[in-house]
Amino acid sequence: MASHSESIRWQNLDKSVLWHPFTQQSDWEAETQLVIERADGCYLIDSDNNPYLDGVSSLWVNIHGHRHPTIDQAIREQLERVAHTTFLGLTHPPGIELAQRLVDLAPGRLQRVFYSDTGAAAVEIALKMAIQYWQQCPSPQPQRTKFFALHSAYHGDTVGAMSVGGIEMYRHSYLSLLFPHVEARSAYCYRCHLQKTYPSCRMACLEEVERVISTHAHELAAVIMEPLVQAAAGIYVYPKGYTRAVWEIAKRHGLLFIADEVATGFGRTGKMFACEHEGIEPDLMAIGKGLTGGYLPLAATLTTEEVYRAFLGPGRTFYHGHTYTGNPLACAAALANLKVFEQEETLQRLELRIALMEEWLRSFRALPIVGDIRQCGFMVGIELVRDRKTKTPFPPEQRVAVRVIKEARKRGLILRPLGDVLVIMPPLAISHPELVRLLDITYAAIEKVAEEVLS
Ligand SMILES: *Cc1c(COP(=O)(O)O)cnc(C)c1O
Repeated sequence: MASHSESIRWQNLDKSVLWHPFTQQSDWEAETQLVIERADGCYLIDSDNNPYLDGVSSLWVNIHGHRHPTIDQAIREQLERVAHTTFLGLTHPPGIELAQRLVDLAPGRLQRVFYSDTGAAAVEIALKMAIQYWQQCPSPQPQRTKFFALHSAYHGDTVGAMSVGGIEMYRHSYLSLLFPHVEARSAYCYRCHLQKTYPSCRMACLEEVERVISTHAHELAAVIMEPLVQAAAGIYVYPKGYTRAVWEIAKRHGLLFIADEVATGFGRTGKMFACEHEGIEPDLMAIGKGLTGGYLPLAATLTTEEVYRAFLGPGRTFYHGHTYTGNPLACAAALANLKVFEQEETLQRLELRIALMEEWLRSFRALPIVGDIRQCGFMVGIELVRDRKTKTPFPPEQRVAVRVIKEARKRGLILRPLGDVLVIMPPLAISHPELVRLLDITYAAIEKVAEEVLS
């Protein structure tokens, strides 16, 4: 175990040589930081030996807890065989076996698996496949070069994934790099841009989606969307039937449909994949995050035999690959992750905890700064506002959600906000008492900050 002075040493060294993702480094350098040395189940343990509940699943990836014996063992066993061998011109058992399992589990007619190592890459691959598909399919339509995406969408940070992204803050500095896409406003019901209320609105916002897609149908290659919930936007949960309606519009216009299940896949929404809730069959699906149970970087793009067949023959090669494509250790971890889903009946057992969470979250309405509570399975967003009646947000410089996560941290819980939205996304395996503790701490942290900011 490290001593406190060692913890300080790590922090100082970090601040002198590192640059962290999505982080304003001036804040990072000014503040005390946690150095996580190890973990156990749903707890992260820092270099001063303090345990913290992992309330965001180490950024939405962890499923069965940390140091799960089955996944640990699978990685060790693979390590005894080979850590890495290339997928370019060679193949290996864990890569083959995992693809077979994914095809078995995937919604609809997805039958081919193309590996990569981050969600953004899985999205890029889907975009490239869609474009090339239209050049090479039986009746080619090479003029189909554009994508439709929803406003507030998040598909990753590489240039192509950013191009179809809809969160301005993440894009505006890089506009000169991005290719143009076609966009319509999405369903963010708490702040409906049509000033309507669900369900009496009858999802009137779909009219714009329909209009934009039909106007551009001749030049569109595909529609890309996050099914059920726009996660990084702030856990914007669409109304029931919205995802299916967008899918139907895409199909009616003969477009490919790309489901970005990077956040929603692997049980987050209560089913293995979010598409299952609305019975939709994507032509391409990007997965990542939970694929290895939160152990190793692995992602994949799944597609149909129809898309795959358009790439057969001379001059039709799909020119994409990464040095670590299909890394065997990562594939072994992913296989073990899926095995644990079965062994522990993760999805069946999750149902009760989703219901428990829903019930508990109702009590959060008593907190004066809680404007909206959005839940989709084990994905929760709590939007904090200064005035509930008018839905007036806090001034951004007040960093109210950051204050809440600091309070939560003092009480032994790691959370991470998206703007003024508190995100709760625990490992699916979190126990009943741990979940109660997580929600108790979150409540107390919001309550404390509410007292400070409203006084
Ligand atoms: C996180 C995320 C991505 C990007 O995945 P990375 O592994 O961070 O590249 C893409 N799409 C969605 C919906 C995500 O939530």
